[in-house]
Amino acid sequence: MFAFADLFFVGIVFWMLIRFRYRLIRQVFWGLTITYITVVAIQGVQGTHHQTSFTTVVFVFPIISMMYLLHSNPYDVDTGAVDEASFELTIKEAYKSGKKLILMMLHMHELEDYEGFTDEMRFEVYHFFSRIIRGGVLFRLSGGRLVLTFSAEKNKDYETVIKRLLEEFDRLYERFKLDFKAVLMETNNDLSKNNDYNKFYDFIEQRFSSNTYYRVKESDIETFARHQYIIEQLKDIRDNFDYDDKRVLNFCQPVYNVKTHKYDTAESLMRLSLPETGMVFPDQFISIAESYGMIHSLSLIILNKTCKLIKSFIDDGLDIQRVSVNFSVQELRDENFCADVLHVIEMNGIPHEKIAIELTESTNETDFEIMKSRIEELRSHGIKFYLDDFGTGYSNFDRIMELPFDIIKFDRSLVIESAKDQDYKFMVHTFAEMFRKLNYRVLYEGVENDSDEERCISMYAQYLQGYKYSKPIPIEDLRKFVLPSA
Ligand code: C2E
Ligand code: CA
Ligand code: CA
Repeated sequence: MFAFADLFFVGIVFWMLIRFRYRLIRQVFWGLTITYITVVAIQGVQGTHHQTSFTTVVFVFPIISMMYLLHSNPYDVDTGAVDEASFELTIKEAYKSGKKLILMMLHMHELEDYEGFTDEMRFEVYHFFSRIIRGGVLFRLSGGRLVLTFSAEKNKDYETVIKRLLEEFDRLYERFKLDFKAVLMETNNDLSKNNDYNKFYDFIEQRFSSNTYYRVKESDIETFARHQYIIEQLKDIRDNFDYDDKRVLNFCQPVYNVKTHKYDTAESLMRLSLPETGMVFPDQFISIAESYGMIHSLSLIILNKTCKLIKSFIDDGLDIQRVSVNFSVQELRDENFCADVLHVIEMNGIPHEKIAIELTESTNETDFEIMKSRIEELRSHGIKFYLDDFGTGYSNFDRIMELPFDIIKFDRSLVIESAKDQDYKFMVHTFAEMFRKLNYRVLYEGVENDSDEERCISMYAQYLQGYKYSKPIPIEDLRKFVLPSA
């Protein structure tokens, strides 16, 4: 009787192991299976020898083994999701065996760390997919993303499955109203090889708005690969720092001085020239460099190249008043900022007043204080400061007046709008007049034709910059615009 009950119990355990093998992580599955095979074997051997001395071991061994396996288990109790390491393993195995998986990524910011997860939601998340998918597994990646994976083979009609999933999800959204971003894709060999899915989600999530589903396209993967390559190159530029790094190109745009009728100042604009991609424009790398902390290295390289150019102009007797260089507000937070800038200028042996720094407005209180002290310090050495992109943010005049800028750069959008609308033009005119009266000089950006030029001059322009005069050009070409000193 006892032997029968024991067999029955072991049988149930085996049946459950087989039945739920897809829900169990491979290690847990094999750990339990081997434990039970061992247990049955010991019982078998002791049975044939009419012994009972191992019976206790036979009971205790599975308990210890179960405690061990479940203690180090990859499950998340709240959602029934499996952890990131297991996700990586699943992807690796699918990649090796050439199996295609469908991935549905769900990111709900409010539930990133499970605060606000009610029992009701827990239930819904857990049962969300079990109704629709065969062999689906839910994973939770670092940063709180949930990824539901299921095999394309086991769900032959997976487009219908996806459709039903989305319908079901819409229903849940109506009920819980939590903002989400969802990405649908198939496993991709390049991403699988490097286990890049979480990084890919970071990248792709910025490209569509909340509460919509995004279906990944082949071209997204290519754009992502390019993005990753740029990050690697930028890291390399920072880590193997060289003031003359050939990958960082300095382009210049000459600026027309309305008073002197000469091109006696210019703006430095950065481009990258990378072995695999060729020329890369600022919209594709500045924000990356800022968010990964690589922007300061780039700025110092551009500053150095700008100083070299100025030095050669001075040596050749050309009349260059100043060249401005763009810096990001976050760079100012570094306490070595002023020392770094001064070092580069002094290393090149040019007067400080030949360099201007362009900064954009910041809405952040601490940044404002830092900005003020950095500007004051560098200004005391003779370096000039421009306020860039005036008119694009929420301009706060109290704040602007508190910072000792030399030149206010009116954004191109002001030039465009003032051409279309009389009231708008009146507003721009008034701003410019006010700045002029307060002894700032006004520069208009994006002057493209004669009518722009005429209008800007009528609106207190001292400097004009734009395609009408020149596009940004390689620094050597700036020589054509700058005249010999009188
Ligand atoms: P920005 O500082 O406002 O630079 C002016 C941008 O307007 C440049 O774009 C320039 O090519 C473009 N532009 C000039 N004249 C005209 C015109 O007449 N019409 C039109 N449509 N555009 C004109 P670019 O070089 O692509 O730079 C874009 C932005 O990237 C810059 O805007 C700046 O915010 C950033 N950037 C460029 N170089 C650097 C740098 O060295 N450091 C930092 N931190 N940011 C930089
Ligand atoms: Ca600028
Ligand atoms: Ca600007």
